[in-house]
Amino acid sequence: MPEGAYRWFVYAELALAAVTYIALQFVVAPYGGRHGRAGWGPTVPARVGWVVMEAPASILFVVFYLLGSHRAELVPLLFLALWLVHYVYRAFVYPFLTRSGSRMPVLVMLLAIGFNVLNAWVNARWISEYGTYPVAWLSDPRFWIGVVLFAGGLALNARSDRTLRRLRRAGGGYRIPSGGGFRYVSSPNYLGEMVEWTGWAIATWSLAGTAFALYTIANLAPRAMANHRWYRETFDDYPPERRALIPFVL
Ligand code: NDP
Repeated sequence: MPEGAYRWFVYAELALAAVTYIALQFVVAPYGGRHGRAGWGPTVPARVGWVVMEAPASILFVVFYLLGSHRAELVPLLFLALWLVHYVYRAFVYPFLTRSGSRMPVLVMLLAIGFNVLNAWVNARWISEYGTYPVAWLSDPRFWIGVVLFAGGLALNARSDRTLRRLRRAGGGYRIPSGGGFRYVSSPNYLGEMVEWTGWAIATWSLAGTAFALYTIANLAPRAMANHRWYRETFDDYPPERRALIPFVL
């Protein structure tokens, strides 16, 4: 495919970020759990939904990556490794650790699959075909700033996921999480995810990476606000100083 045609997929992802952000001002996406509600059609166990919707992001990414002429070069291979660290965790580890018995609408799962196929195409094709990353990119500060943000974001995301899981292990339903990023914000898992993909955008210094970072923010920022409202409405003793998403700010 000529690069001009590929670029339309990147523009489509940017447009999707804008549409998602606007749509989520009006509806809270019913992934399941506390925002789950009737009227979204048939559902599947959330665990199944997570595997099915996130698997393409890792498996198809590898397939698309292998089509690229730079597939055996060092820097693209490092980007591939970063991507897989996140998506193998999200698709094949996280769903099996979760203790929630919630269900996910099939519609949400299908929309997520569609996005993940597009996003895998946009990012894998960029790093292994259309982008140029000589070994000298390893001495560029953008690479290292991006990698540090990516690793820090992933650590915050996975640690916050674990804190929520442990709350469930203690038994019962929802509780007020504490410790780590929860000292400052209601959704440190989302904050970590946003930092991670911002790091990816900086490390790859690409419109493809920027499109994914913007989509992640468009998708998770409104959800973080919805979670924060839910916590405040549900728990009278919710810590008043805790913000929704950005410590001390938002
Ligand atoms: P949530 O924080 O809503 O829920 C995560 C898990 O923790 C669920 O099993 C939930 O149970 C449980 N949980 C949440 N809050 C509590 C609480 N107060 N007490 C007890 N259990 C709780 O996260 P999401 O499901 O929205 O997302 C999961 C992960 O996926 C996150 O790390 C997120 O960053 C990532 N993600 C990334 C996206 C992207 O665009 N890149 C999009 C969506 C998610 P239950 O299901 O029963 O509510």
